[in-house]
Amino acid sequence: MTTSQATKPLTADDETIRKALEDAFLPALLPALAQATGDFALLRDDLRPPAVAPGMLQGGMSAEQQSAARDIAFDALKTLRDGGASAAERPIEDDVRRIFEWMTASPASDDYMPLLVEELAPTGQDPRAPTWHAGDDTEFSVAIIGAGMSGIVAGVRLKQAGVPFVIIEKNADVGGTWLENTYPGARVDVQSAFYSYSFAQKIDWPNPFSTQEVLLDYFRECADEEGIREQMRFNTEVVSATFDEDACTWSLRLRPADGAEEAIEVQAVISAVGQLNRPKLPDIAGRETFNGPAFHSAQWDHSVDLAGKRVAVIGTGASAAQFVPEIAEQVAELSVFQRTPAWFLPVPNYRDETPAGLQWLFRHVPHYMHWYRFWLFWTSTDGLLPAAIVDENWQSEGASVSAANDQLRQLFTTFLQAQYEDRPDLFEKILPTYPVAAKRFLLDNGSWPEALKRDNVELITEGIKEITADGVVTEDGRLIEADVIIFGTGFHASQFLMPMKIVGRNGIALTEQWDGDARAYLGITVPNFPNFFMLYGPNTNIVVNGSIIYFSECEVQYVLGCLRMLLKDGHRAMDCRQDVHDAYNERIDEANLKRAWGASDVNSWYKNDRGRVAQNWPFNLLDYWQQTRKPDPADYVFL
Ligand code: NAP
Repeated sequence: MTTSQATKPLTADDETIRKALEDAFLPALLPALAQATGDFALLRDDLRPPAVAPGMLQGGMSAEQQSAARDIAFDALKTLRDGGASAAERPIEDDVRRIFEWMTASPASDDYMPLLVEELAPTGQDPRAPTWHAGDDTEFSVAIIGAGMSGIVAGVRLKQAGVPFVIIEKNADVGGTWLENTYPGARVDVQSAFYSYSFAQKIDWPNPFSTQEVLLDYFRECADEEGIREQMRFNTEVVSATFDEDACTWSLRLRPADGAEEAIEVQAVISAVGQLNRPKLPDIAGRETFNGPAFHSAQWDHSVDLAGKRVAVIGTGASAAQFVPEIAEQVAELSVFQRTPAWFLPVPNYRDETPAGLQWLFRHVPHYMHWYRFWLFWTSTDGLLPAAIVDENWQSEGASVSAANDQLRQLFTTFLQAQYEDRPDLFEKILPTYPVAAKRFLLDNGSWPEALKRDNVELITEGIKEITADGVVTEDGRLIEADVIIFGTGFHASQFLMPMKIVGRNGIALTEQWDGDARAYLGITVPNFPNFFMLYGPNTNIVVNGSIIYFSECEVQYVLGCLRMLLKDGHRAMDCRQDVHDAYNERIDEANLKRAWGASDVNSWYKNDRGRVAQNWPFNLLDYWQQTRKPDPADYVFL
């Protein structure tokens, strides 16, 4: 990634600068220029964007604010170009503090500073890299299961620490979910500047929200540039992993796609299999009897030509919201079956390319991309979390959980009202009755309402009774004939690690111990499973945006800390203490019940069959970073 992040000297004429500024993202440009010029007077109170402005262009800055910000940015860019900026070296902490205070209009908390300084490390620095090395003669080795986004981070860090490892991947290439989900329109819903590794930042993302192809290339490039492809075994599935208590080793049974099963032995296992990798087909009567092609969105059958066909889509979650607008134009008839409407947040640039002027500014303004990343970090995650917290005194009959949450509801409703002004019949069907943040809200640039309003598209909200050879029958007995059925019905998210069999101390299987209710300490370790670590495990998912990459980096930091402890102190294995695990899970459960996603009884993949939120992290990103920075030996029993 190093080639694409260098900032170029600023030598352009005034006209070029003015033109580029038309495309600038101003809430992050002013901080970048303040830092580059040393002129913090650029951060004027009257130019601060509103605190909460989800999806709004320029962070919700008014036209007057934008115009004034462009003018002062223009002067600052000229100062930079003409060499008039103060070259004085200042501690990065001071700059970060001042900028944080301007952006958030609140005093910077000392707790946040180390995280922000780490997040905003200058280009080329990697403060999260391990500072230790296992030594060339180490006999400790690790198996990582999965070469998706998390497995790559684990591989990078193990390589840096000199710990021998192998990555076992069931697919033919890296990328995980970004390799498998090839449905039309697949793209990320967290901006790439944030949905990217801290150690592999790019300034030339072609789109603010990357498409599947671009992200897959990014992960391939990371694996290649970091030199970890040689440690990967592709087309090989891990069938089981069994702990040998005497030897303190893990034995993995591997099933290569084209060979006999074999076993390998390692000292530790890192599972990086993700939460959303086993497609879930709905339990609808007659599903198998359908006479035409039928497939899940994550297993898109590209050999089926949808042009001119009658297509039924079941599900209106994040996947369907992306592929429905893409296929609506090609098909003859499209019947979209919605069980629960999603909250949609209009994001006008969701499917856009990165504007040329913005690209240019990223290249020429030092650290602009870092402040852009920070802006996303703050406004789309910890800045939004308070609006998902339940106020026990708030009365709303299930529609919102607090005044702040209700404010979001009103904002989202206003957006939707404007989009469906001409179709009150549709508006009635698509307006959710549950609180914002009880399910993941979806981003859209208007293509979803546009698709639903087409003459060849029908949104069906009647429940599904059955599937027959000819199509889908609703509960009121109507047959919707179809040539193709596409299931956008999600994943077996709560059945963590399925279908692998993981056997720990005393021969206990993880599925048996969990009994349908997966839990872990920090989402990473489980009592009775020594030296078995999970990435993106139970309760490490986030709802009000945020980036799962951030979590994976925190988890890997923690796992490396554990390995360091084992190697340094000469222990063979570490087992999480049951009391520590249980007390932690109590805190998680208690907090999740006070979040919109835990308090609401709306359907979501965040809850397991017992109704417990097994997926989500209820606290902020800082909390997770703090808790995973360094393992506490007191939390473990050493073998
Ligand atoms: P999902 O959010 O779980 O949506 C599944 C959809 O299928 C829901 O509308 C669900 O209705 C419906 N459904 C399930 N079973 C049904 C049945 N028996 N009858 C009728 N409808 C049924 O799955 P997804 O869309 O694949 O997304 C899963 C997660 O993947 C997302 O939340 C997100 O975290 C991630 N994702 C992200 C992106 C992105 O970054 N842009 C894109 C795709 C996926 P109910 O709501 O009533 O359950």
